[in-house]
Amino acid sequence: ADTVRLLSSCQVINSVVNVVKELLENSLDAGALSIDIKLENYGFDRIEIRDNGSGIKAADTAVMAVQHYTSKICSHDDLEHLVTYGFRGEALGSICAVAEVAVTTKTSEDDVGTRYTLDLTGSVVSQKPSHLGQGTTVCVLKLFKNLPVRRQYYVNTKKCKEELKKVQDLLMAYAIIKPELRLTLTHNKVVLWQKAKVSDHRMALMATLGPNAVAHLLPVHHQQPEIVIDGFFPRPGMDCSLASSSNPDKTFIFVNDRPVHQKDILKVKTFFVLMKYSALNRYPTVMLNITVPSSTVDVNLTPDKTQILLQNKVPFSIILSISLQTAAEPVTS
Ligand code: ADP
Ligand code: MG
Repeated sequence: ADTVRLLSSCQVINSVVNVVKELLENSLDAGALSIDIKLENYGFDRIEIRDNGSGIKAADTAVMAVQHYTSKICSHDDLEHLVTYGFRGEALGSICAVAEVAVTTKTSEDDVGTRYTLDLTGSVVSQKPSHLGQGTTVCVLKLFKNLPVRRQYYVNTKKCKEELKKVQDLLMAYAIIKPELRLTLTHNKVVLWQKAKVSDHRMALMATLGPNAVAHLLPVHHQQPEIVIDGFFPRPGMDCSLASSSNPDKTFIFVNDRPVHQKDILKVKTFFVLMKYSALNRYPTVMLNITVPSSTVDVNLTPDKTQILLQNKVPFSIILSISLQTAAEPVTS
């Protein structure tokens, strides 16, 4: 049974960035507005995520990391109205199978927090009081300690640096879609990146990508039955040298606030190439949040939920023409 658990966990949790993504989404699902992520040795020695969310009720802590336990889905009907990032109850249990995990948590009802140490089956093996305030801290030590080939693959090659870059890119996406969120990333005790709470998506783009990245952006909004599209497109004819960044790929697409990587949605990029937006071989910033009824999305295509299926077509040609119309109007900025 342990082998089966290990095998299935390997698929959900195959790198540091997966762990960070799952834990970050748990924090967001718990309503956290402040999240601190600390990595040591690129996350392979330690990944710690502290949030100020709701905490985990004492009654739930015994089963929180049991595979397929989730507090978020009660019926099949809920599956059609998903509003949380997590719902499969796989993450915490899977991480336990490939690392040493401790969870410290305190709800508003608890007088004092508790630190739980979990074993590789996700069972609580010990607990002790903790001074931490309301919220949850998940600490993941020695990732892939029982998968030496995988651990070596990352730790003994330059792969671990790529992982750190992926973590930064991931955090950027959540920073943009969650303006109200305060987020920090620390590596080996050095703060690599931080984003303060801001009031809207434009401010969040600015806080994440810098003022140059938003200087040329125009807001777009389109609404039709079952689909709302909000975001920012570059102003046609903008000077692309303004879009300077070490990260040339600044297309941020979200479906119901979930960052997605998807070719058919990213088709939008092709438009920009055609329209000579990307002179100098640089893509200007694009941000789109597509909001559709959750019953018309299937996020279950891949374990990391970054590939999705949409029941209705996204009317990109409409968005594009709206952005052109907006651009034709005199700009005051
Ligand atoms: P899922 O997110 O799919 O429900 P997980 O394995 O990621 O499953 O988490 C299991 C459960 O543990 C969650 O449903 C939630 O009740 C609880 N949990 C995990 N992390 C947190 C957190 N940071 N704050 C509050 N509750 C959490
Ligand atoms: Mg989860």
